[in-house]
Amino acid sequence: MRCLMCEELSFSHICKSCQKENLEPSFYKRNLPLNIPVYSFYKYNDIKDLILTKHSDLGYYIYKILADLSFSKFAEKFTFRGKLISLSIDDHVRHGYSHTAILNSALSSYHIKPTFSKLRAKNEETFSGKSYDERVQSPRDFELKSFEGEDVILVDDIVTTGLTFMEAIHILESEGKNVLFCLSLSDASKDVSFVDACPLLRDL
Ligand SMILES: [Zn+2]
Repeated sequence: MRCLMCEELSFSHICKSCQKENLEPSFYKRNLPLNIPVYSFYKYNDIKDLILTKHSDLGYYIYKILADLSFSKFAEKFTFRGKLISLSIDDHVRHGYSHTAILNSALSSYHIKPTFSKLRAKNEETFSGKSYDERVQSPRDFELKSFEGEDVILVDDIVTTGLTFMEAIHILESEGKNVLFCLSLSDASKDVSFVDACPLLRDL
């Protein structure tokens, strides 16, 4: 096959040299109200074309590659006093896979237990292309299914306004869960700051 980025012949949908040169993850942070941080690995504009593959079968392979490069590496190094539950936001299966479930699976590690199908939007209307006001007016209306464990992290592929995470945090907290932070593949805000991942990997 050909690499999606450079079009050279490749064994993978994105060749090893493009993975190394263009997709080395960074670590960005922004704070939501309530002081819950959102950490992300890429700026949305830098991987926009890859993210758009989620609307087709190809997205399965691309999200696997992105998840291995970022979420898996994060989970390998992450330590915590106990075990955390990671929840993928709205992991409905479309085109035979769920893109947020792929990201969440990659977190499976000694301290993180990925958990699926617990947080589903009753409002399936997509947020893409909507303004802030339109988003506020059409909340996702999450339904939370019960699960074991109290300490939670949330997983999504794009954070834009942060409203989706906020809504998810709200419902989890109302059920007595403790949301430590959110992890997003990409951040669409221009105001994210680059941070050193080490304190997070060490201190929680
Ligand atoms: Zn390439």
